Amino acid sequence: MTSTQALPSRTPLLTAPGQVTLVGAGPGDPELLTLKAVRAIGAATVLLVDDLVNDAVLAHASPRARIIHVGKRGGCKSTPQSFIEKLMIQAAQEGEVVVRLKGGDPFIFGRGGEEVEHLQEAGIPVTVVNGITAGLAAVSSLNVPLTHREHAHGVVFVTGHAKPGDSGTDWAALAHCAREAKLTLVIYMGISSANAIQAGLLQGLPASTPAAIVQRASLPQQRHAACTLANLVETLQAEQLGSPSILVVGDVISGLAQLQQDTGAAGARQAA
Ligand code: SAH
Repeated sequence: MTSTQALPSRTPLLTAPGQVTLVGAGPGDPELLTLKAVRAIGAATVLLVDDLVNDAVLAHASPRARIIHVGKRGGCKSTPQSFIEKLMIQAAQEGEVVVRLKGGDPFIFGRGGEEVEHLQEAGIPVTVVNGITAGLAAVSSLNVPLTHREHAHGVVFVTGHAKPGDSGTDWAALAHCAREAKLTLVIYMGISSANAIQAGLLQGLPASTPAAIVQRASLPQQRHAACTLANLVETLQAEQLGSPSILVVGDVISGLAQLQQDTGAAGARQAA
């Protein structure tokens, strides 16, 4: 059939007893939730909530839902991933409508892929509802695009935090590639290894490459600073920017860096 059929105004709800839905809760601002995420949260009888999820999104949950916080922020004491997965599987097997709420998008550095694999191995039907990933929200909040016909032909979402035993990203190789292919680099979990990231990237990108740090993107506490690759770490320290933050490196930031030089240092989302 070649004709397009009109979509029903509401596609079937993906949540059901005995199933798990991984839901992207977005970067923080509860108004950035998708309509499908709101429906899934409202239908849940059990919600497992990551620590970067804004509690305000839980206003959409049923008052009868069981809400379990399973935060595991890097470096802090946390609920082990295997235990979270066990909880999800057990709740689904007991016939609960399970929603796993994850910050940003479930499939961008959220270990969502591993969770789907393990749920499927246990025979639990699983679906995924996308969320707005922090890297996208962080850059958009500054009115900066991730791609631009003049400055960037593409974008790389990359983590600064490899799993134990993994040597992690080859920053010098990535820098060469970004330069040759004109790519914007959006770095998640990069604060604790910012020194190594900066040193590696400087092997392939000019010291003058524009950069920015955006902390708590999309929230009222959002702060950012624009700088160059050469003074990224210095700016992080001077402006006391910390986790959770996104680091952005690339020519798309150039307008912002200029603006910031004209108006002073770190910016806030709302006037103080
Ligand atoms: N799945 C998430 C990312 C999880 S990894 C997503 O798609 O956004 C956690 C990292 O995401 C943090 O260390 C930080 O680098 C970034 N992050 C998450 N929320 C953020 C926010 N509101 N502002 C800036 N960075 C954020």
